[in-house]
Amino acid sequence: MQIQFLGAAGEVTGSKYLIHTSLEESSCKFLVDYGMFQGAREADEKNQKLLPLHPEEISFLVLTHAHIDHCGLIPRLCAEGFKGPIYCTTTTAKLLEIMLLDSAHIQVSDFERAERKNKLGKWRGDMPVLLYDTKQAIESLNQVKAIPYAKKFSPTPSIEVTFEEAGHILGSSIAVIDVKEKNEASKRLVFSGDLGMFEKPIFRQPSLIESADVLIVESTYGDRLHRNIKETENELVEIVTQTLERGGNVIMPAFAVGRTQEILFILADLIRRERLPHLNVWVDSPMATKVTELTTACMDELDDDAKLLYQWLLDHKNKIDVRFVGDVEESKSLNRLKSGAIIISSSGMCQAGRILHHLINNLPFEKNAIVITGFQALRTLGRRLVDEAVSVKIMGEYVDVKASIHTLGGLSAHADRDNLLKWLKGFKQKPKHVFVVHGEPSASVHFVQSIRETLNWNDVIIPTLQSTFDIS
Ligand SMILES: [Zn+2]
Repeated sequence: MQIQFLGAAGEVTGSKYLIHTSLEESSCKFLVDYGMFQGAREADEKNQKLLPLHPEEISFLVLTHAHIDHCGLIPRLCAEGFKGPIYCTTTTAKLLEIMLLDSAHIQVSDFERAERKNKLGKWRGDMPVLLYDTKQAIESLNQVKAIPYAKKFSPTPSIEVTFEEAGHILGSSIAVIDVKEKNEASKRLVFSGDLGMFEKPIFRQPSLIESADVLIVESTYGDRLHRNIKETENELVEIVTQTLERGGNVIMPAFAVGRTQEILFILADLIRRERLPHLNVWVDSPMATKVTELTTACMDELDDDAKLLYQWLLDHKNKIDVRFVGDVEESKSLNRLKSGAIIISSSGMCQAGRILHHLINNLPFEKNAIVITGFQALRTLGRRLVDEAVSVKIMGEYVDVKASIHTLGGLSAHADRDNLLKWLKGFKQKPKHVFVVHGEPSASVHFVQSIRETLNWNDVIIPTLQSTFDIS
């Protein structure tokens, strides 16, 4: 057996792994995840790189979850000739449709805008890359096969796969893959996918896996500890109470998938526990609206606290008003709200989308508060706000920053170092091969060091991009 690291090796995006096997029935190649590289300029180039084999030679694909850096290139793979099934959990299948159609839509509109400008001679630099269009995204969804959590299935007679809870986002899974090669003992491959915190609101805890021959584990925050959720709640109570008392609005840029639902949960829970008064909340992001609907439709996959809270909300509808904003006109009408509003909108890093209007309207006034709820990459508007800019450029205009800016540190979709180690302790003995992926180099290196010190696992590998390993 061989495993090749085609992404998320020395970086956090582009997750994809190619596994070659020699089975009794045939030789079989399959993929785990097929994500998009994001962020850096070289991402475009890497996203266009062809696989080291024809996609038609791949038998099937196992998908851990529907974040774009794990699934975002699937339509391109299918358009290039991959005909096999795409296995994922039932909820990932639903979320995948929302994510891939949104990704195609963004790419097509960016491309068309650039083309229009280019024709007028107004476009500078490289043209944006169109990796796939909406039709290709829809076609790829026809290959999806949804499988419930914890149900063993066989893509081919000598391979068995089970999806276990990863506690990261809706539908997220750990992929446990048992492979029986010709004349060999069966080997278990465990792909952690992205793991959530054990105490994360809404989601169930990541499942502990007891054994593996080959383990591929993420390390996004392998070098740091998150602030605890209680401190985060206290901070939020203070910000919301003070801002509403002084007659301001609270603006929260938030990722549409996961973070928006988590914030809604925390606000509702704080009201239930009488730590916050009745609130008027607007969720202004079509994608966040769709994902929130999906979340409430999948309550049985959430943790017990989330289920109890949801029931409490249904019984106490007068305690919180949450409005989901539809079209752009309705979104713009929120500009008239001068006080008492909590507006959750995207994009989470303030780079595009409806959040921009809310920032233009609310940043220039001291009474308002902007609450940053997630990671802000370098050179994003969100990062400039965190870095205390006194004035920022939004849609070509300079806007004074008078509102107070707060960062909530305790919300993260990813496990921190101690939570990753806690998950690793679930293995009864050290897996024979351990690969640390999905981390910036320093996060992965520090995490490997912690693994060595805490678990005494010595030969842990950080694979480089494109590297291949023989698994004996
Ligand atoms: Zn993820």
